[in-house]
Amino acid sequence: MVFIDTHCHIDYFEEKETEKIVENAKKAGVKIMLNSGSHVESLKKTLDLIKKYPEVRAVLGIFPIDTLKLSEDELSDQIDLIRKNKDNIVAIGEVGIDLKESDDLESQRKTFQKFIDLAKELDKPIVIHSRKAELECIELLEKSQHKKIVMHCFSGKRKLVERVRDNGWYLSIPTSVNNSEQFQDMISIVPIEQLFCETDSPFLHPLKERNNEPANVIYSYKKIAEIKGLSLKEVEKQIEMNYKKLFEF
Ligand SMILES: [Zn+2]
Repeated sequence: MVFIDTHCHIDYFEEKETEKIVENAKKAGVKIMLNSGSHVESLKKTLDLIKKYPEVRAVLGIFPIDTLKLSEDELSDQIDLIRKNKDNIVAIGEVGIDLKESDDLESQRKTFQKFIDLAKELDKPIVIHSRKAELECIELLEKSQHKKIVMHCFSGKRKLVERVRDNGWYLSIPTSVNNSEQFQDMISIVPIEQLFCETDSPFLHPLKERNNEPANVIYSYKKIAEIKGLSLKEVEKQIEMNYKKLFEF
């Protein structure tokens, strides 16, 4: 079995804890974890993690709210760092617009565009964080005509989920699907060829406990199997194919 957690933040844990978390994941059959390094410090930590653990892959970007804390020069430095590491990363992310945490739409939009341009330039998938700005994100992405897009933990309305689906983009199902009708609905209306599974560890624990970890990604796989009427093995195989198609093209 090869389970894949396409979105986690294991750099949030203490080093000793990280070791245990990667061990737990491997024991559970989670062979690939995409760590999303999404603020200045976590970019460096993510690059360290991939050297230490072959199961961990790097996704680098700056979280929308964190971009607001950077000067123009500091942001360029981070973009350069990502560009320099283009062979060490599998995607750009998580980037996007978050109007829940800040109402500064213009600055966020400008920076998001820079990351979209970077993803196109490097020909990498881009992992999107959108909160209360789902439509704004979709419109910018449609205009860019970039094709390799994953909407992470997308909480837009059904119509927007359908729009993402019809655009041929991907959606990742978080482990909190366990208690979320909205994500269960997403599974039923999006073809499995466009789905991924993620934990967003240490957040979004499937049983609402304290720290989520990649080993729990199985909860998302099980929910997909249940709703799509497939075996766990079939889901695992298809998601692995999706992974290879998008991230290892
Ligand atoms: Zn995240």
